[in-house]
Amino acid sequence: MMKKNIYDYALKELQNTISPAFRAKQIYQWLYIHYADTFSEMLNLPKDLREELDNTYTIKNLEIMRVQTSKDGSKKYLFRTKDGLSFESVLIKMRDKKYAPDGQVIESEKWTFCLSSQIGCKVGCAFCYTAKGGFERNLSRGEIVEQVVQLKRDNAIAPEKRVNIVYMGMGEPLNNMENVVNAIRILSELDGLSISPRRQTISTSGIAPKIIELGKLKLGVQLAISLHAVDNTLRSKLIPMNKAYNIESVIQAVKSFPVDERKRVMFEYLVIKNINDDLQSAKKLLKLLDGIKAKVNLILFNPHEGSEFQRPDPHQVKAFADFLIARGLLCTIRESKGIDIDAACGQLREKELEKIS
Ligand code: SAH
Ligand code: SF4
Repeated sequence: MMKKNIYDYALKELQNTISPAFRAKQIYQWLYIHYADTFSEMLNLPKDLREELDNTYTIKNLEIMRVQTSKDGSKKYLFRTKDGLSFESVLIKMRDKKYAPDGQVIESEKWTFCLSSQIGCKVGCAFCYTAKGGFERNLSRGEIVEQVVQLKRDNAIAPEKRVNIVYMGMGEPLNNMENVVNAIRILSELDGLSISPRRQTISTSGIAPKIIELGKLKLGVQLAISLHAVDNTLRSKLIPMNKAYNIESVIQAVKSFPVDERKRVMFEYLVIKNINDDLQSAKKLLKLLDGIKAKVNLILFNPHEGSEFQRPDPHQVKAFADFLIARGLLCTIRESKGIDIDAACGQLREKELEKIS
């Protein structure tokens, strides 16, 4: 019998198969608080149960093939699956500064994990490295969850340390919605990693009906839309799927999505030199997002070998941002974290594939 991946199971599901049920909680704590990678170390379980678990389930399903560390502390992981495929995750470390009432500066580290949801992607965006490799398969929910455990373990991140999750690695999460939604639920389990859906963000290229479906689940998850263009002709060139779900239909779907009181929907806008970096586009963007609790995140296009597009002029990006901010729209420019390690997802895998072939 094929062994099953233990990370595929929600706590309730384990409780249904393992008796007495409190054992499932103990297993969860070993997996998600102690980052155990063998059943034999789960010493508060009876020996025969440990053996039974070992015969039924696997814990290590992903192998770390390569880690690249950026000067800014970001790290990019290349994982290999049991069936010999590879994909990547990025760990982003940010310094957070808070000012205490007495003026003292309190510095802390903030971690964001950028997870993959698929190996490759079917959407085929013109600017994206992942798209170039084609589509292999969906990641299972266990493979999505295990990325978090491995990143925490490998960096000795304390279990109680808060981490944010963004589904912005390889793949289109809404094309693997069932597994992503189940992974979000497993990651948020209070007896496990306890990462609230409010600290998890799904980034989508804009599959309108799936955005509506996701909203109806009322998970409390955050939404990011990869908009990148404000007119349909250009957007269809960048994201072919725009022909099926155009800008208006995406905006309509976003309006149906439940947004937390204190949160906003993030609109990602990949700024490409001489393509969409003009103030006329900024003006249209402002109009498009009217009436939405939105936040715009400008991403500087990260060129890769063979790409037809160019990195924008930082002054131009700043002018774009200033235009929006002056008119009351929240806007940030994404720092190029890990630019020296090709942190735009898909790029490391691509290089590895070139080496192999
Ligand atoms: N498929 C989802 C999530 C993964 S892509 C989506 O498209 O939203 C995550 C982000 O990486 C997207 O916003 C995408 O625009 C960005 N990205 C892709 N290629 C890039 C590149 N060459 N430079 C900078 N960002 C890139
Ligand atoms: Fe897929 Fe996102 Fe890349 Fe587009 S940008 S090809 S949706 S991973």
